[in-house]
Amino acid sequence: MDTDPTSIIAASYVIVGAGQAGRRAAETIKELRPEADVLIIGDEEFLPYDRPPLSKQVLLDETEEEGAFIRTREFYDSSGIRLLLGKAVVSIDRPAHRVNLVDGRQVAFDKLLLATGSRARRLSCPVGEGTQVHYLRSLVDARALRKEMIIGRRIAILGGGFIGLEVAAAARSLNCDVTIVEPQDRLLKRSLPAAVASSIQGLHISRGVRFLVGRTPVSVTRNGQGQCVVELDSGKVLADIVIAGIGSQPNMELAGSAGLEVENGIVIDTCCRTGDSDIYAAGDVTAQFSRFHGRRVRVEAWQVAQYQSAVAARNMLGGKQEYDETPWLWSDQYNWNIQALGSFDLPGEIHLRGDTNTSCFSVWNIGGGGQVFAVAAVNCGRDISVARRFIKEGSRVSTSKLEQRDVPIRECFEVR
Ligand code: FAD
Ligand code: NAP
Repeated sequence: MDTDPTSIIAASYVIVGAGQAGRRAAETIKELRPEADVLIIGDEEFLPYDRPPLSKQVLLDETEEEGAFIRTREFYDSSGIRLLLGKAVVSIDRPAHRVNLVDGRQVAFDKLLLATGSRARRLSCPVGEGTQVHYLRSLVDARALRKEMIIGRRIAILGGGFIGLEVAAAARSLNCDVTIVEPQDRLLKRSLPAAVASSIQGLHISRGVRFLVGRTPVSVTRNGQGQCVVELDSGKVLADIVIAGIGSQPNMELAGSAGLEVENGIVIDTCCRTGDSDIYAAGDVTAQFSRFHGRRVRVEAWQVAQYQSAVAARNMLGGKQEYDETPWLWSDQYNWNIQALGSFDLPGEIHLRGDTNTSCFSVWNIGGGGQVFAVAAVNCGRDISVARRFIKEGSRVSTSKLEQRDVPIRECFEVR
C-alpha cells in the first residue's frame, strides 16, 4: 500500500478497527459481493484476532495464540480484503468522505464501518511511579501477563468480574497464589444472578483463591523489598503482580469528534447505522436499542461482535436487516462452562432448576405469564440452547415444571 503521506488511499468499504467485528464485517461483505473493494484499518500490528482466548488458554500456553487468529494472512490475500495495520485513524472528515490516519495519509470511503471496540478501564486510585499494574485487553497485554505468571508468584487481582475470575483460574492452574479484591458486596454483580456468582466463588475457593469482597483499593505502590502493596480501604494485599480487570470503556471518541451521536457508545439504529447514512458501527463500541431490554444498551460480548457486524455489513451493501439477538455470553473457568442468555436486570422472579451445590444447574429470571427474561447456566448448555429457541418463538415457560430437574427442559415450555 502507498506510504507517501500526501497520497489518498481509496476503498468503497472502509472498516476502522481490525478486531473481531471488523474482520467479520469484511468477510460478510466479501461473501455477499466478492468484487467489493474492502479495506480494514487497525491500530494494532496484528492480523485481526478474537479476544476470548486471551484470558483463558493463551495465558497458559503460547501455542494457543494461533487459535485466536481465526483467519490466516492467506485468507485475507485470497479473498481480496486489504489490511492497513499498525495505523490509527485519528479523525473522520464526513463531508469529504475520508478518514485521516496518524501518519498524515487519508483514506477515502463510500461506506464506513466503525468497529473500534473498547479499552480496559484504568484504576482511578494512585499508582506509585515504577509500579506496574497489568490490564488485559490485547495480545500484547496477554503476553506480558503470561511472562509474569510463574509458579508460586503472588497475584493480586483487582475486580471480581469475568477478566478477574478467568485470570484467577489460569493463575491457579499455574500454581500461583491468588487474591481477588472486589468492591461490590458480591462477584459478577453486573452480569449474573447471586446464586450463580456464589457458586463460582465457591469453585474458586475450593481451588485455593482468596477473596476480599466489599473492599476497595485505595493505592498501589512498591515497597523497599520490591513487593507490590495494594492498600485497601481496610487492610492491604502484598503481591508480586497486580492485575486490574475493572471493566471497559468504548473507543467512541473518533465518532464523537466527528459529530456523530455518542452515549456510552456510538449510537446506532436497529440496522446498525449512525445518524450519517454512510457511516455504520458494530461491536463493543455500539449503543443500540434492544427490543429485549426495551432500551438502548451496549453489550460487550463475542456474540455482538460476531453477528451485529454481519448485519451492519449487509446493510452497508444496501440491505435493511435489523440486529435483534437475545444477549448471550459464556465464560470458562477451570472445568466449568458458564453461560448467560437474556437479562437479569429485567424485573422478574428468580427460579432455580437443579441444585446449586452441584456443578450443573441453571437460574432463571421469569416475567409475568412465564416470559423468559434470562437464564444463567453452570455446565448446562442444553438449558441455554433450548431456552434460546423458545424465547425466539415467544413461548412461555411453566415455572413449576422448570423447577423439577427431572422434567426435560423442552417439556417446560408451552409449544406455540
Ligand atoms: P475489539 O476486539 O476491541 O476490536 C477493536 C479494534 O479496533 C482493536 O484492535 C482496537 O485497537 C482497534 N481500534 C480502536 N480505535 C482505533 C482507531 N482509531 N484506529 C484504528 N484501530 C482502532 N466475550 C464473550 O462473550 N465470552 C468470552 O469468554 C469473552 N472473553 C473475553 C476475554 C478478554 C480478555 C476480553 C478483552 C474480552 C472478552 N470477551 C468475551 C468480549 C469480546 O472479546 C469482545 O466483546 C469483542 O472483542 C469485541 O469485538 P470488537 O471487534 O467490537 O472490539
Ligand atoms: P466487568 O465484568 O465489568 O467486571 C469488573 C469488576 O471490577 C466489577 O465487579 C467492578 O465493580 C469491579 N471494579 C470496578 N472498579 C474497581 C476497582 N477500582 N477495584 C476493584 N474492582 C473494581 O469487567 P472485566 O472483567 O474487566 O471485563 C472487561 C471486558 O471484557 C468486559 O467487556 C467483559 O464483558 C469482557 N470479558 C468478557 C468475558 C466473558 O464474557 N467471559 C471474559 C473476559 C472479559 P463495579 O460493577 O462496581 O464497577
